Amino acid sequence: MGNRVRLTVEVPGERYHRELISCQVACPVHTDARGYVRALAAGRFEEAYLIARGPNPLASICGRVCGAPCEAACRRARVPRVDADGRFVAEDRPISIRALKRFACEIGGPEVRPTEEVLDAVRQYVPQVSADAEEMAALLRASVKGAFQPAAGEPVAIVGSGPAGLAAAHDLALMGLRPVVFEMEPIPAGMLALGVPSYRLPRELIAREVAVIEALGVEIRCGVTVGKDLTLADLRQQYAAVILAVGAKASRGLGLPGERGPRVYGGVDLLRSVALGSPLDIGSEVAVIGGGNVAYDVARTVLRQIAYDTARTAARLPGAAKVHLASLETLEEMPADTLEIIEGDEEGILRHNGWGPLEIERDETGGVRGVRFRKCLRVYDHERRFAPVFDDQAQERIPCDTVLLSVGQAPDLQLLEVGGLDIEQFRPGWPKIEPETLATTAKGVFIAGDLAHGAKLLIDAVASGKKAARSVYEHLTGRKIAIEATTAHLPLPRYRRELGYEAIRRVAVPV
Ligand code: SF4
Repeated sequence: MGNRVRLTVEVPGERYHRELISCQVACPVHTDARGYVRALAAGRFEEAYLIARGPNPLASICGRVCGAPCEAACRRARVPRVDADGRFVAEDRPISIRALKRFACEIGGPEVRPTEEVLDAVRQYVPQVSADAEEMAALLRASVKGAFQPAAGEPVAIVGSGPAGLAAAHDLALMGLRPVVFEMEPIPAGMLALGVPSYRLPRELIAREVAVIEALGVEIRCGVTVGKDLTLADLRQQYAAVILAVGAKASRGLGLPGERGPRVYGGVDLLRSVALGSPLDIGSEVAVIGGGNVAYDVARTVLRQIAYDTARTAARLPGAAKVHLASLETLEEMPADTLEIIEGDEEGILRHNGWGPLEIERDETGGVRGVRFRKCLRVYDHERRFAPVFDDQAQERIPCDTVLLSVGQAPDLQLLEVGGLDIEQFRPGWPKIEPETLATTAKGVFIAGDLAHGAKLLIDAVASGKKAARSVYEHLTGRKIAIEATTAHLPLPRYRRELGYEAIRRVAVPV
């Protein structure tokens, strides 16, 4: 008799099947993207909006500018495309999940309906499938059934009204707390309003989405700087809990010779100044250093700014203005979205790939006259760590009169000086947090957004704001928000794909 072989058979459970829905797993707030895409395909447009809005208080904003990790995970992109003879041609491209969200929002969202109407629709909607405890509908239904007991209206201070602060405030209000948001800028929404150009994210849309959040009972106090107008110690005394969601807004420098002085600015400072209507002094030939989406936002904003100034002053600057963008990375390695790069090229941005800055050259009067670069042979090592290697002999010079540095941002934590000294930092500028709760080492003080996880996507900031809100609820009430999952197998006898589904190509969506 031959050897016996023992096999272990594992029956896939609910978790296995959930994780097959890779778009939903990849979305930091676990949006049921599959749900709203199918609802759109079936012509149920309002329902599509409500599914998208369920876990995401900034659904309309995300429809415009989300980094869409759901698309990066979309399984359609793994479907092989074959030619007429069945030969492999390429892998397909993901479903345009973000653009479809925008479509749904433009039918059911605050961009086309009054605030109260949006809130009523969201409150009354009972989704067939709730994504998980992130769902607003799940929370509201649980509260109606008595399974979720709202808090007793304790006041909670949130510092910063960017995506993390707004998401935290939204969920805290739903959980029966009284959030008050402190924003140092004259308008709410942080870098969404000040760091994303209006051609990508219209200001009116931001205002409408924020109005829905305010209508839930969230108070936003603009023009108040914590650390100047009042201290963190004041907030900790007057509020039951504090969430710090200040974001990483300070532009990083490179420490180059010539960097200090006129006409060298941080990229986000430029974006902020344009958004607030007080543009910085820039010349007619600008070098943007950086290869990410912010660098493209900066370069494309400058292009529009120079064009506007030129038109306004009736040919004050004869000849075309030039905007250069120089990145360490090759074209293939650039962190910016492909669409940004293509549109930047089309708009005339002069791209220089594979160059690292050595020096900002100034003339005898101190004016910028160019940037000297050296060739970058490699940016990352074999373990994908940032470890650039340069060829000092291969150099290039870009003539310019203004330099904008877009090589990352850092948080500014001066507000900790009064009332925050018990918040330990794991390295200067970065508070130590408990990853599961986002609690700091100071009782009742939580962190959300960039400060919690470094510079990530807008939707990551939304997710961390929601997480901090849940931690505050648990901290103040002593009650946990439990996830209740119901599994049901629903036969869909008439379910079928659209005709020619496999052959439908992704359509390029203009920004
Ligand atoms: S919020 Fe962003 S990641 Fe989530 S489903 Fe929408 S586009 Fe995708």
